[in-house]
Amino acid sequence: MKLQPMEPLSRTHNCGELRPAQAGAEVVLMGWVHRRRNLGGLYFVDLRDRYGTTQVVFRPEEPELLEQAGGLSAEYVVAVRGEVAERPEGTVNEELATGGIEVHAKELRILNASETPPFVLEDPVKAGDELRLEFRYLDLRRPHMQRLVQARHVAAQTTRNYLSSMGFVEVETPILAKKTPEGARDFIVPSRLHPGKVYALPQSPQLYKQILMVAACDRYFQIARCLRDEDLRADRQPEHTQIDFEMSFVTEEDVFEVAEGLMQSLWRDVRGEEIEVPFPRMTYREAIDRYGSDKPDLRFGMEIVDLSDLLASTEFKVFSSAIERGGVVRALNAAGCGDWSRSQIEELETIAKKHGAKGLATAKVRDGSLDGGISKFLSDEEKRSIVEREEARTGDLILFAADRTKRASQVLGQLRIWLRDRLGLVEKGTFAFAWVVDFPLFAWNDDLEAWEAEHHMFTMPKEEHLECLETDPGKVLGRLYDLVVNGTEVASGSIRVHRRDIQERVMAVVGITPEEAERRFGFLLRAFDYGAPPHGGLAPGLDRLVMLLTDEDTIRDTIAFPKSYQGLSLMDGAPSAAEPQVLDEVGIRFTRSDEEDETD
Ligand code: ASP
Repeated sequence: MKLQPMEPLSRTHNCGELRPAQAGAEVVLMGWVHRRRNLGGLYFVDLRDRYGTTQVVFRPEEPELLEQAGGLSAEYVVAVRGEVAERPEGTVNEELATGGIEVHAKELRILNASETPPFVLEDPVKAGDELRLEFRYLDLRRPHMQRLVQARHVAAQTTRNYLSSMGFVEVETPILAKKTPEGARDFIVPSRLHPGKVYALPQSPQLYKQILMVAACDRYFQIARCLRDEDLRADRQPEHTQIDFEMSFVTEEDVFEVAEGLMQSLWRDVRGEEIEVPFPRMTYREAIDRYGSDKPDLRFGMEIVDLSDLLASTEFKVFSSAIERGGVVRALNAAGCGDWSRSQIEELETIAKKHGAKGLATAKVRDGSLDGGISKFLSDEEKRSIVEREEARTGDLILFAADRTKRASQVLGQLRIWLRDRLGLVEKGTFAFAWVVDFPLFAWNDDLEAWEAEHHMFTMPKEEHLECLETDPGKVLGRLYDLVVNGTEVASGSIRVHRRDIQERVMAVVGITPEEAERRFGFLLRAFDYGAPPHGGLAPGLDRLVMLLTDEDTIRDTIAFPKSYQGLSLMDGAPSAAEPQVLDEVGIRFTRSDEEDETD
């Protein structure tokens, strides 16, 4: 029998669109079979697409159709022609946008069959992360994931509109580039045409955007992919996206104003919420002292308090000797945790040790004094003054750290965050923005015994600290700033060095010889010789912003095709073995491979 070619059906509506007002209309829907139920001789098929789900009914009045519908399984792609009908009373689904109607099928065409999916496409999904990444195209069909894709699109679009409206020009910078150090390892691309040479994939467009300022671009932006060959760490991706921008003839204030306006637009367009600007500012020192972190979560209090002055001459050796060695005794009031069991307190101690503490001293608060834990080592006066400074009450628990200043603060900062989650101190959907400013320009690397740039070495030192650049690098503050939201660093930037002499001095502090400076950054220094304007900028991370905007806990699902925590692309199998011929062409021979490691 010769099949009659069928007249193609064309889609009239999407699966999220129909409402009772359209009752009686003939429509054609196309989508995926989400679910099929058989109810007393009827088939109900939930038809799904990006826009929503519509219930299609196959009724006994159409026996052939009914039989055809019996052959449908999950994820089949179908076209349905039918009539929109209001749902009978009592069957209206208020939770569904299309819940007031159903479509009575008159024709069904199977556009494509589907294997049984390896997991159920439901929200929340029960499948494990690896399976979801391997079958990402199925995972992305889930409404939750569709919403994330959509939110990211809106965020990108808003960014473009907002920055364009502020006079910024979008410029693409190269992906095959010269190394741009941002503190990570480079991904490299061997050049076939120039054997023995490599391009680096950009860790950020940092140097190009600065050169665009030298090129009189004045205001540049780009939604830029940044590639960093980082060690595996929680919630890091080898490629992430930044909203990169740079401005000429500006101070910090100008950069902050643009960034605050951008955040307002994003929160407005993606969440429909107004956020208050300007954002509060806090120095790096203050952030470390009060919150034990340079990215403090300001949605809750529980601030760290310094007790060193109260305890300088205490009998308790652990405290007094820490102070004598130039360290501090700091503490945190875990309010309401005074009834915690020994094993709960041990849990706190484990966290403290994980972050470098030798132990964790604790004491409970009772009747204006301290009780249990280390309280027996302290005088009544010391106990009373600690309780007073902590503003503690009966039923609280004080956690002490006696150590070098940085370590003591960090340990308490980590405990603070852990307690936040454990005690449920913050609500999802609330946001606390802040600028952290006045960072040190350099950080001492204990392992390498050398100074390195706290952010990157293109940051301008504060003018008043220029004179001690060589003599006391640890004292030099940089004109750099981070934007922090809910304990996450969402943007980092600085006013840049725009003069060769200062740039060479900064490079020298981090151990770059003039020859090396010339070889690696000669092009930038040369550009500075030709009239570089003062400039500065910022780079908000798009993935992290979308994560916050959508109340996600990780950046992974804000990216359509992320890598696994092992840096693998589980869907397509990257990275994969290179064919010998390809390696030959670029003149490379591997001395190590994953396969060999496995047989070791
Ligand atoms: N390029 C910097 C980074 O990736 C951001 C900036 O300073 O604008 O962290």
